[in-house]
Amino acid sequence: MRQFDIPLRFQSPWITKIKQKRKLQDPKKKDFAPTLLDLGDVSIALARHFGFCYGVENAIEIAYTALKENPGKRVFLLSQLIHNPLVNADLQENGISFVQDTEGNLLMNWEDLSCEDILVIPAFGTTLETEEKIKTLGLKTKVYDSTCPFVEKVWKKSEKLAEQNYTVIIHGKANHEETKATFSHTQAYTKTLIIKDMQEAKQLLAYVLHEKPAELFFEEFAGKYSQGFDPAIDLGKIGVVNQTTMLAEETQAIADFFKQSLLEKHGQNYLQYFADTRDTLCYATNDNQTATYALLETDLDVIFVVGGYNSSNTSHLVELCEKKCPSYFIENASCLQSLQSIAHYDIHHKITKNSIDYLPTHRPLRIAVTAGASCPDAEVERVLRTLVDFLKPSIDISNCLEKL
Ligand code: SF4
Repeated sequence: MRQFDIPLRFQSPWITKIKQKRKLQDPKKKDFAPTLLDLGDVSIALARHFGFCYGVENAIEIAYTALKENPGKRVFLLSQLIHNPLVNADLQENGISFVQDTEGNLLMNWEDLSCEDILVIPAFGTTLETEEKIKTLGLKTKVYDSTCPFVEKVWKKSEKLAEQNYTVIIHGKANHEETKATFSHTQAYTKTLIIKDMQEAKQLLAYVLHEKPAELFFEEFAGKYSQGFDPAIDLGKIGVVNQTTMLAEETQAIADFFKQSLLEKHGQNYLQYFADTRDTLCYATNDNQTATYALLETDLDVIFVVGGYNSSNTSHLVELCEKKCPSYFIENASCLQSLQSIAHYDIHHKITKNSIDYLPTHRPLRIAVTAGASCPDAEVERVLRTLVDFLKPSIDISNCLEKL
């Protein structure tokens, strides 16, 4: 895979060493078992895959290149480059400003931009409406478009489904930048609808099977269907794509659910009504989730998942970890406030909160650490350093890393 130019401050000597070692031992990525750091009375299991993915490294390289190549010019990001506050703050410190926040609210007037300014498109891509706006203002963005190729792949897949007259169902979060962009690009070709989970898939099936009056559809799916959507006609032929960072098992369950329901209704002819395609999750989402499942196979007392609180792929890792043992979603090492107290994010109530006695006192203590695809390795190293500092394990971590 291509090597990107990533600022040193996001890299970590510890994590680089561990990742390189694993890559050498298993270049084809067949072994998803975690790396075990045996520190005597404390052990730390590090997931086989975590941290910057191809799309994130590509976006970071493009954003810093935009700054480097345009001294004296104003450089803007359409919205957050990726969902990691450390990276976005670093970009701001280096002179980048944001046009919109992550919800799409304008932080400045479009009219305040001039064709002399530089605009960077984030890794999630953007909507056709925004692309049009950018064109009208005469801003040159082609060179600094950091849309992830794996997101563009989803757009192409939608286009293919549209060519075969399928309505596209996007399994994703309607307010996420990537899903907004995919919705916009897809609705240019075919009727499009967003569903967020299995519950909404079940609600939708009632309209696919004409079991509910079409009028109710507009209430239930308000803000999630393309213009002119007619549930009585447009659900006759459906295909599913997804936001690249959804939970693989949920996407699979939704696709299987539609397939089974349409098989029951139409028999072996179901393929005329349902596009039986693979999910559109990206390689990083798949690798990180597979590595998390492997991590959960080890005996653990507590898990820390590091990443931005608005990061979709990170929150899905937390969802998996929570099924195993107490799991804490932390943005950075400073969330580990002391041996007793932690600040963390509750994905169910969407709030940050403080908890006490988060580290069990028994020994041996078995800890696991993983991180989302937009989290710098440097932050994971800081988390490890903080944990080691608090727990003072009987074996020095540097000695343990030397022996790897
Ligand atoms: S998580 Fe996947 S889709 Fe998102 S930026 Fe990374 S590689 Fe691209």
